[in-house]
Amino acid sequence: MATFPPEWDDGTDPASAPHQVHWYDERTAIIRQALRTNFEGPFLYLLLGAERALLLDTGTGHVPLRPLVESLLTGQELIVAHTHAHRDHVGGDAEFDQVVGHSAAEVAAYFGISAWPDAVGAVELGDRRLEVIAIPGHQGADIAVYDATSRLLFTGDSLYPGRLYVADWAAFRASVSRLERFVAAGKPVDWILGAHIELTDRPGVDYAMGAARHEGEHVLQLAPGVLAELAAVLGPEPERIVRDEFIVYPV
Ligand SMILES: [Zn+2]
Ligand SMILES: [Zn+2]
Repeated sequence: MATFPPEWDDGTDPASAPHQVHWYDERTAIIRQALRTNFEGPFLYLLLGAERALLLDTGTGHVPLRPLVESLLTGQELIVAHTHAHRDHVGGDAEFDQVVGHSAAEVAAYFGISAWPDAVGAVELGDRRLEVIAIPGHQGADIAVYDATSRLLFTGDSLYPGRLYVADWAAFRASVSRLERFVAAGKPVDWILGAHIELTDRPGVDYAMGAARHEGEHVLQLAPGVLAELAAVLGPEPERIVRDEFIVYPV
């Protein structure tokens, strides 16, 4: 258990399923929306607890998601929340009943983040407590989710093997620094998991924007040191920064 596929199917074959599901461990499902359904090919995460399950993101909404998610549950009450509110991560929301709102205020209220973005929130799934760190900068209502049980850190579009679009540089820099300090203060991380793959298997080389195919993709998972690397390379002024495992991309 606790494995990743050696390589993801990019989902461009017309015969490929609309979603691929990989169980990282027995309570953590990684779901990838096939590129053929939308070029974003986002990754979603389903985290099962004893009483509740958290679905992190709903994809682009171009293919039904709820039947798949329900087939993966084992009796839990389902809560839907988002790494952030961009359309490729909230597109399937209308299929679900209990969906956390999209604004920073609504996210803060749900997770009990008493002071956005500095305070840490949490949600208890039953035998699995997740901590929620506000990391605005890419979009505005961005969060990272830390799962001490699996030692996974979910970072949405703020850190993944691809183009890290930064809308608010000062906020992003502060968020990355805060997240890095949160981890360094005694939160062991085995892997960082973001919401897309946009890099090839060649260091720092990305696909064209909107590419319909992803041959030879970078793996999804990033080692924890990549967060420290991102924190270290962000200077005070917006700039494009190309590293082996991410590209910082001010917009
Ligand atoms: Zn985004
Ligand atoms: Zn995205």
